[in-house]
Parts: sequence; C-alpha cells; structure tokens
Amino acid sequence: MCINKKYNILILVAFACIAIFSIVFLFLTSNNLSIQNYNTELEFNGDNAYNYVQDQLDIGFRIPGTEERKESAQYFISKFLEIDSNFTYIIHNFTVYTTECQNILFKANEEYDNVIILGAHYDSRAKATRDPISENRSKPVPGANDGASGAAVLIELARVLYGQKDNLSSEIWFLFFDAEDQGGNGILGWDWIEGSEQFVNDLDDFYDSATENIESMILLDMVGGTNLQFINEQYSTSSLLEELFAIGRNLGYTNEFPSNPVSRSIIDDHIGFLDLGIPSADLIINFWDNPSWPYHHTTEDDISHISNYSLEVTGRTIEQFVYNNYITDTNYNYQGNRPWDVDMSIPDMQIIILLGLIFGFAGVAIIITLSIKKFVKKKEVNV
Ligand SMILES: [Zn+2]
Repeated sequence: MCINKKYNILILVAFACIAIFSIVFLFLTSNNLSIQNYNTELEFNGDNAYNYVQDQLDIGFRIPGTEERKESAQYFISKFLEIDSNFTYIIHNFTVYTTECQNILFKANEEYDNVIILGAHYDSRAKATRDPISENRSKPVPGANDGASGAAVLIELARVLYGQKDNLSSEIWFLFFDAEDQGGNGILGWDWIEGSEQFVNDLDDFYDSATENIESMILLDMVGGTNLQFINEQYSTSSLLEELFAIGRNLGYTNEFPSNPVSRSIIDDHIGFLDLGIPSADLIINFWDNPSWPYHHTTEDDISHISNYSLEVTGRTIEQFVYNNYITDTNYNYQGNRPWDVDMSIPDMQIIILLGLIFGFAGVAIIITLSIKKFVKKKEVNV
C-alpha cells in the first residue's frame, strides 16, 4: 500500500514535470511579441525597387569572374553616389581560387558607434541546377529574385533611410555580397557563401571593434518573388527575426509574415556574422519542398516572377524596423527585442529537446524501478 502510494506520487511528479516543461516550451517558442510601430509615413517605393531589379537583369548574368559581375558592382556605386556624391563606400577585393571577387560596403551615419548591417548577395548563379528541363541545367540563372531582389531593396532602402539619417541614432551599413550562390556545382569546386565568409574574416578592416558595436545583421535573400511568404529561418537569432515578423504583421503584411511560418535552416550570408555572436536574421522564402515560389535555381527566375508589391513589403518592414529601433523622437516608446540577445532557435531548441528527453526518461526509469521494487517485495512475501 505504502509503495503504491509512493509510486502514484512519483508518476504524478514525473507527469507534472513534463507538463510544466511543455508549457514553458510553448511559451518560449510562441510568437508573442506585440509591437507598436513608430507612427510615420513609410517611403520605400516598390516600383523603384522593381526598376533596380530590371537594371541588374539588363546588365546580364552577374556570375563571379565575369564583366557583368563587375559592371553590377559599378552600378551599385553609381546608384549610391546619386543619393550623395560623397557616400562612403569600400570595395572588399578577394579571390575564390583565382577568380577575383568584390563585396561592396556602403556606410551611412558613420559618427555613431552602434552599427546595423543590411545585406544581400548580388551574384547570380552560373548554372540552373534545379531547372525542370534537363538541358537548361547548364544554363545560367537570370537571378531576378535570387540576387537582384535583395540588392534592389538595399538601394531603395539607402535612398529612403539616407533621407532620414539625421533622425536616426545608428550607423547603417548596406552590404552587397559577391560569390554567395555558386555552391552545389554552380561553379565547380566552389562553396556557398564564399563572399560573406571572407568579409567576416576581414571584418576588422572595416570598423574599430574596440569602440564600435555591430548590433544586428539583417539579410535579404529572394525577397521580391510573387506570392511572398517568409519562413522562420532557424539559424537566425529568433528575437530579431520575431521582431521583424511582428513589425511586418503590424503593417498588415500577414500573408508575407504568416503566423505559422515554415521552419527551415538555410546556409546563407548571415552565418559568418552569427558565428561572431552578432544577432542576425535571414528574411528568405521556402524554396525547397513544396515551395511558395518554385523558380529557385531555374532559368525562370526572371522578371515575370517578380512583384513590386513583395519588394515594397520587404523594404517597408525594414524601414519600419530601423525607425522603431533608432528614431531619435523621444515621444516614441520602444517595445521591441533590442539588443536581440535571446535566441530560441536551433542550438537552444536542441537543449530544450534534450531536457524533454531527460525528463521523459527519468519518469520512465522511476516507474520501472518502482515496479521492480514492488515485484521483489511481493516475491519476498511469497517466500
Ligand atoms: Zn541561390
């Protein structure tokens, strides 16, 4: 009788632990951030961004090592110098094997020592390795979405945010990566994200880590396709990505920032920054199984599958994010997750799952131990 009671209590305790753990887990993983966006007229223009996509396509295929890739770098510089003929920029030269590549960094509001990085890759893929028609798989990808869309949004964001720079208390980097998209036999022997990895290796050349602090990095990759639906990218710092989703939803973009997004881990240009401990988020779509936009790494990644509205949704969400966090208007009460030091995505998820397994096994072990004890006691009585 006594053992039975203990046994029941222990089972109850085990179940209570699992229940409490489940509730904590649900609480931590639920999207519960409520945002009051800074009230202002957003200026990001989707038609402008659409034109910047078309401009890049008009240059041609922007494959590393080609004249077109170089020309597109010059195009970005010319667009930023249109905004301000003194816009600060740095060309980061590097090589992949013997191919000369270039990342391009533009800096605004350099007097501040806290930095936000807005980044995108601008190279286009040398081979359409996922094209449904096999003879197309050796042809280059136009890269309207995969490359040009993110770069186009950066140009339009620069125009808009530069106009507001005196009201913002942060330095802003606009960072264009070369050599992101040639892994998986895009160019034989190349890996993914070569450009951003090399940029991160040389990061100390671009700022003074003793006095300056990079607060966050936001990556835009395939942000201009039709039927835009962002995913919950799992390497991203969850508090930063969650804040972007909350801002977008608050702006009414509930299809683009769904309440139950697909979860996936993508090797992308934010990885190197995450490895340095910089909170980073990748705004990207589901391009793999049952994709919301099915033209990834095909010859159909062209202007006909680009939407000026999708570009505007992305751009305005980032514009709003920058105002929310850095506007110098003291009447606005900031309510986001800055400094984005909470990450509940993959590494922490693994810890949570591990804890769950430990609790589960502990409960089962207690039950088995008590059953054996009970059985032994019965046997002793029988003897
Ligand atoms: Zn790609």
